[in-house]
Amino acid sequence: MKLNNYINGSWQDAGGADYTAVVNPANGETLCEVRLSGMQDVDEAVKAAKRAQKEWALVPAPKRADYLYEIGRLMKERKEHLAQVLTKEMGKVIEEGRGEVQEGIDMAFYMAGEGRRLFGETVPSELKDKFAMSVRAPIGVVGLITPWNFPVAIATWKSFPAIVAGNTFIWKPATETPMMAYEMAKIFDEVGLPPGVANVVFGSGGEVGTAMIEHPDIRVISFTGSTETGRHVAELGGRHLKKVSLEMGGKNAVIVMNDADLDLAAEGILWSAFGTAGQRCTACSRVIVHRDVKKELEERLLEQMKGLTIGDGLDESVKVGPVINASALEKIHGYVEIGKKEGAKLLAGGNVLEGDSLKGGYYYEPTLFTDVKWDSRIAQEEIFGPVISLIEVDSLDEAIEVNNSVAYGLSSSIFTRDVNQAFRAQRDLDTGIVYVNAGTTGAEIHLPFGGTKGTGNGHRDSGVAALDVFTEWKSIYVDYSGKLQRAQIDTE
Ligand code: NAP
Repeated sequence: MKLNNYINGSWQDAGGADYTAVVNPANGETLCEVRLSGMQDVDEAVKAAKRAQKEWALVPAPKRADYLYEIGRLMKERKEHLAQVLTKEMGKVIEEGRGEVQEGIDMAFYMAGEGRRLFGETVPSELKDKFAMSVRAPIGVVGLITPWNFPVAIATWKSFPAIVAGNTFIWKPATETPMMAYEMAKIFDEVGLPPGVANVVFGSGGEVGTAMIEHPDIRVISFTGSTETGRHVAELGGRHLKKVSLEMGGKNAVIVMNDADLDLAAEGILWSAFGTAGQRCTACSRVIVHRDVKKELEERLLEQMKGLTIGDGLDESVKVGPVINASALEKIHGYVEIGKKEGAKLLAGGNVLEGDSLKGGYYYEPTLFTDVKWDSRIAQEEIFGPVISLIEVDSLDEAIEVNNSVAYGLSSSIFTRDVNQAFRAQRDLDTGIVYVNAGTTGAEIHLPFGGTKGTGNGHRDSGVAALDVFTEWKSIYVDYSGKLQRAQIDTE
């Protein structure tokens, strides 16, 4: 099967395009082929989106929202099918696949509700017989660039606020995971979105991504991916004066204080660190533990790690699926070797896994390092795999300092029973998301999602905050005095 672009409400035919294989990371099987589009395809999609946007912006927002209710309904109806496709193309275990699809469904209904809000402000004017208000205005054609680790949820965080606010979009999914985008394009088509409102263009970041960023008629780029790519996107976007929203890498930590419930902490750490084989942007890759409970926590982690079944995520009993591809395996193993050279103590794991039951997939053993120095490379750089580094500290202040020492600022967590420590931590942890007595993952769609420092550039996906990316504020003054009133001058 060949996946082709969805542009202007129809499927592009194959033409003379090149295709690349989409591979199931659980067993190396080719699932389908996907088009490698070029500048021409992007231009065609942008022309369609631009034509459609004028009309779309005039459709009343509650009517635009009706399409989202329908999209949510169809996603709900197909939840199991979508989750199976997601697990096949990306590898996360089926339970997490269902969770991710549910996130998309939640986002559809939540943003549909915004169709009847999209709140602006009415405020008093400083002058008599004058009315002042602000409204959210759509921006135009927006470009969405998404990563492979959440092939559907992230796209819904971006595309749903974009369309409810009156924009039209071009979505470029990661080349590793185009199948969910194809499934979503089918849904956009079935609900009858006007042609050109939703467009999906497949292809590499270098070709399609660059063409989108440089296209003069794309006004906003909303990007999620690595910090390295994000920096490049921002530089190029800046040159073209684009509004660029970036959600990038993380180096998230769980802090475990000496009064914590250690069983709960261990459970939270393993779920955050090894879920999605450590490839969530919010994955826990550092555990900052109080000296008094370090030994006990290590024992509990090792004990609970014995229960982690590794294999194809479609098997309901499996807890840790494969990583995305061979180069991810190589990168993760490279970091494990670096950790050993840096003097960290390997307590468990540290191997690429092979064997008949794993059928040629890309599996890495859940890995636990202890005695890791806070400033070593494995404690500072994003590994994006199932590897935990334990770092010992003496106090909450030191724990917070270590947490904040990295270049990223996405998610952090603290396990403590002391309400004072919990509140100090949530104030002082320099991350966009903080959890108390839970791991570093588990965001809900009605709150802003994003991070500080190298994780983001001040924008947020999800929640009402997502609307800020896809709207401009317009301030409107209506003077009904019948005379010229000059602000700041005619104040008597
Ligand atoms: P990536 O390599 O940066 O790719 C992300 C997207 O950017 C893909 O669609 C990719 O396309 C595209 N891209 C690559 N080069 C580009 C270029 N020169 N111009 C424009 N677009 C380009 O990241 P990834 O490996 O897919 O995803 C993992 C990273 O995403 C991790 O660092 C993770 O922490 C981060 N992430 C962050 C969040 C968050 O919300 N903060 C959420 C999820 C993931 P192709 O791959 O098709 O070439």
